[in-house]
Amino acid sequence: MSGRLQGKRALITGAAQGIGRHAAELFAAEGAEVIASDLQGGKLEALQRIDCIETALLDVTDAVAIATLAERLGAVDVLFNCAGYVHQGDILSCPEEEWQRSFAVNVTSAFAMSQAFLPAMLAAGGGSIVNMASAVSSVKGVPSRCAYGASKAAVIGLTKSIAADYVAQGIRCNALCPGTVDTPSLGERIAALGDPDEVKKGFVARQPMGRLGQPQEVAQAALYLASDEAAFVTGTTFVIDGGMSL
Ligand code: NAD
Repeated sequence: MSGRLQGKRALITGAAQGIGRHAAELFAAEGAEVIASDLQGGKLEALQRIDCIETALLDVTDAVAIATLAERLGAVDVLFNCAGYVHQGDILSCPEEEWQRSFAVNVTSAFAMSQAFLPAMLAAGGGSIVNMASAVSSVKGVPSRCAYGASKAAVIGLTKSIAADYVAQGIRCNALCPGTVDTPSLGERIAALGDPDEVKKGFVARQPMGRLGQPQEVAQAALYLASDEAAFVTGTTFVIDGGMSL
C-alpha cells in the first residue's frame, strides 16, 4: 500500500469528532500510523476499529498526561494540534475564566504538545506540526468571538515562532485557518442560539461561497501540510474559508 503519509506516525488531538476525526481517518487511509487522541474516550471507540489507528485518552490541558504520552510514544513525524474550544461573546461578556479556558484549550495545549514532542522529532531528523487556528484570528475579526479570536491569533504567533526556530532542523510548523465548518460543535452552537434555521443562515452567510466548509475539506488541507508534498512550506497560515476573509 502507498499513500502520502506512508511510513509516518501521526498524533492528532481532538480526534473524536469533527475535523480531527476526519483527519485521523484520512491520514490512516494515506498510510500513516495514527494515534487519535481526545478527552472523550467513548467517541474514540469507533476509530479503534480502523486499521492503523490507535486511540489515546488525552486532555490537552493536562501537562502531566501530555508528558506521559510523549514518553510512551517517542518520536512522531506529524503532530496535528486540532483540539479547540469556542467561547461566544464580546470582551464585555467574556468572564475571565472563559478567557483562560480559551487560551488553555486553544493555545497552551499546542505549546505544551509541541514542547513535549519536539525533542524526539528533532532527534529523529524532523517532522511536521500542524496547528489548528481559524480564519477568526489575526486573519479576520468577527463579532462575539473575543477570547476565541485572540487565542487563535496566538496559535498563529506560536506557529511562526516554532517555524522560525527550527526551520534549519527539519521541522515545519504551519497553521490551518478554516472558515465556518460543518462539525458537531457548530451544530451545538446553532442549536443553542435560538431559531436554528436563521442561525444556520447566518453562519452560512459568513462565506461568500454560500456554504459551510466540510470537515473532509479541512482534513485534506491538514494532510497536505503534514505530508512531504509541503516540504517547502513552513510558518504559513493556510486559509481554507470559502472566501470568508476576502
Ligand atoms: P469539534 O469542536 O466538534 O470537536 C472538537 C474536539 O476537541 C472534540 O472531540 C473535543 O472532545 C476535543 N477537545 C476539546 N477540548 C479538549 C481537551 N481539553 N483535550 C482534548 N480534546 C479536547 O470539532 P471541530 O469543529 O472540527 O473543531 C476542531 C478544531 O477546528 C478546533 O480547534 C476549532 O477551533 C477549529 N475550527 C473549527 C471551525 C468550525 O467552524 N467548526 C472553524 C475554524 C476552526
